[in-house]
Amino acid sequence: MLEAIDLVVNYGRIQALHGISLQVQAGELVTLLGANGAGKTTTMRALSGLLPLTRGKIMFDGRDITHMKAHDRVKAGMIQAPEGRGIFPGMTVQENLDMGCYARKFESKAKYNETLEWIFELFPRLLERRTQVGGTLSGGEQQMVAIGRSLMARPKLLLLDEPSMGLAPMIIQQIFRIIAEINALGTTILLVEQNAQQALTRTHRAYILETGEVTKDGTGKDLLADPAIKAAYLGVG
Ligand code: ATP
Repeated sequence: MLEAIDLVVNYGRIQALHGISLQVQAGELVTLLGANGAGKTTTMRALSGLLPLTRGKIMFDGRDITHMKAHDRVKAGMIQAPEGRGIFPGMTVQENLDMGCYARKFESKAKYNETLEWIFELFPRLLERRTQVGGTLSGGEQQMVAIGRSLMARPKLLLLDEPSMGLAPMIIQQIFRIIAEINALGTTILLVEQNAQQALTRTHRAYILETGEVTKDGTGKDLLADPAIKAAYLGVG
């Protein structure tokens, strides 16, 4: 589904990515794990076309999208969920979700209703809060709106940048459970995270990113059991 080959990104004279390669197969949930400043956000922005590459190639759904504009990548089905704080604070939950439709138009009203119902099944809380404005929602609820909004565009690949950021542990667990459910229902997901425990428990595979390089990759299970990963990311060992 997605293949990034040897991505190099520079911010002026600073090289943020030193040749990142990763793959996401259709149906997978893959995590990019790294500490602050490792280059996770930079990688995501490069994949979604928001940052120019100095070097490298990106293949998506059988096409070379290296030079494709960000909005065309969205149309092709690669949708990045904004951070929870990236929702429209003055709009209601419903209006925020509808904004997701701009990325990919629905062929029929029935399809729109079906997608909306599916999102409300995943996030019953959003149905309860349908008419509440975004700015007054809790952090967890705003994150749900952000993910729900991306799902309205029916992504082939959903890119999630630190969905656990700033949330309480209970809410983080809930968000991860829903992410795993979205994936189990057929959406391929690339997740960027600092929360190693939750991410590795839920993910099929993960790449460990350190100072702009992939230093390790493997299944979530193997990485959870890896002593070096435990010491560096799980605070044990
Ligand atoms: P965090 O979890 O803290 O968001 P991250 O893994 O997402 O970290 P990036 O934001 O991708 O890391 O940053 C990678 C490196 O690139 C860091 O050293 C950072 O200081 C640098 N960097 C990021 N954005 C810019 C910018 N606009 N100009 C210069 N350097 C930048």
